[in-house]
Amino acid sequence: MPLYDPPAYLTKEQQKELADIAKAIVAPGKGILAADESTGTMGKRFSNINCENIEENRRQYRQLLFSAGNEVSNNISGVILFHETFYQKNDEGVLFTDLLKSKGIIPGIKVDKGVVPLGGTNNECTTQGLDGLAERCAQYKKDGAQFAKWRCVLKITEHTPSHLAVIENANVLARYATICQQNGLVPIVEPEILPDGEHDLRRCQYETERVLAFVYKALADHHVFLEGTLLKPNMVTAGHSCTTKYTAQDIAYATVTALSRTVPAAVPGVTFLSGGQSEEEATVNLDAINKWQGKKPWSLSFSYGRALQASVLKAWQGKKENIKAAQEELLKRAKGNGAAALGKYEGGVSGASAGESLYVANHAY
Ligand code: 13P
Repeated sequence: MPLYDPPAYLTKEQQKELADIAKAIVAPGKGILAADESTGTMGKRFSNINCENIEENRRQYRQLLFSAGNEVSNNISGVILFHETFYQKNDEGVLFTDLLKSKGIIPGIKVDKGVVPLGGTNNECTTQGLDGLAERCAQYKKDGAQFAKWRCVLKITEHTPSHLAVIENANVLARYATICQQNGLVPIVEPEILPDGEHDLRRCQYETERVLAFVYKALADHHVFLEGTLLKPNMVTAGHSCTTKYTAQDIAYATVTALSRTVPAAVPGVTFLSGGQSEEEATVNLDAINKWQGKKPWSLSFSYGRALQASVLKAWQGKKENIKAAQEELLKRAKGNGAAALGKYEGGVSGASAGESLYVANHAY
């Protein structure tokens, strides 16, 4: 077998299917609702509104999200689900996955098994879940998922992210990506650099470039079909405790520069995580990124969790009579982010929690 002709693990048909899914997710003005919070994370979200973290309440909450008005699909192309939610049904007995599909929204699934300590490092981590992953992906695909998410976490401190953490997380993301693709799921590759710390914007840009360079080297080594992937990175922002304040334009410039130096043009889209930014900040920054006049061969959109749900939760408060108002909050934010994905956000979408910081120290998902 000549070196330049590695054994193909995907047929042309499989490649086309993956590329089509990825393209549909980052269609102009559309992005992803990340609703794949683990049971523990939902507990933290619910405790803020005095809602008990039981399966029925989680089902009620996700039902609220997925049954918001049909216009939500103008701006939300995909939803990432947690395993429990993936098999839940609405009050009428319709599977959430079928409900989403009926609105033209693509169901996705979180397939990693969480962040674990990386021995031999100073409090750094990797993400587990490769065992049995092929079988799980095959089953999810059969049950209607078209894409998957795997989150890796890197931390900026004086001596981190270490070479070991960077290389291990890049490699595990590549392994996950090939397994997804062989089973017909578009892998969302998520190497999140946490916002914790005092570092400035330049340091975050430097580390983002370093991490992404390793990720794409690993993806190339593993022959991942880039046209059938999406990247879910942090925006380049200063650390949460940095005293220097930067504008949305500073963030846009640093983010687009970092991506243009490291992310191949074959990747169809970048769907940013919100990473503890307030809802409004996440929208304004995405808008500035899209307004920025630089080389941008990929769609630049959103895959927000907190920045699409904070106002929804606040308006809902776990009460039936608030469902409609809570759904309105989701529609507003989805529309604002859809506009931002085109660089056409006019600003000022109010919301029950729009300006509130959503920062969580050492954020787990
Ligand atoms: P946030 O937008 O709340 O950072 O979460 C997105 C996500 O899915 C992280 O994996």
